[in-house]
Amino acid sequence: MPDQDCIFCDIIAGDLPSDQVGENEAAVAFRDINPRAPVHLLVVPRRHRTSAHDLTAHDGDELAQVFTLAREVAEAAGTADGYRVVTNVGRGGGQMVDHLHFHVLGGRQLRHIDSGASPQD
Ligand code: 5GP
Ligand code: ZN
Repeated sequence: MPDQDCIFCDIIAGDLPSDQVGENEAAVAFRDINPRAPVHLLVVPRRHRTSAHDLTAHDGDELAQVFTLAREVAEAAGTADGYRVVTNVGRGGGQMVDHLHFHVLGGRQLRHIDSGASPQD
């Protein structure tokens, strides 16, 4: 069920505009409105749930479709060198939109996690 007050549900329903770059049965991909890398896409499962914290063993097929779409849109955006897929969980994890989504970041050298970098670095 779509959530009444969810901007990503509204985007998926077509009630809010987005710069869509791909879709499949389970997920939609569009450009982040405030990009923090030359490639910054969001891959969003169509089904509303708050975050990865709510995933269960039943969600395997849906997640496989999410990561398939992430690969397709990352490749199409020209991230031949590699890219990063990140999901934030809860306010303490930096999540602002409470509909599970995966950031796909690339198009420049991203810093290694050992450097103390945050996911968008
Ligand atoms: P979070 O902080 O929840 O992991 O990420 C939410 C992301 O959604 C942010 O990077 C933010 O820029 C993006 N965002 C927020 N509102 C909109 C919107 O209306 N359209 C698009 N395309 N991105 C949005
Ligand atoms: Zn939603």
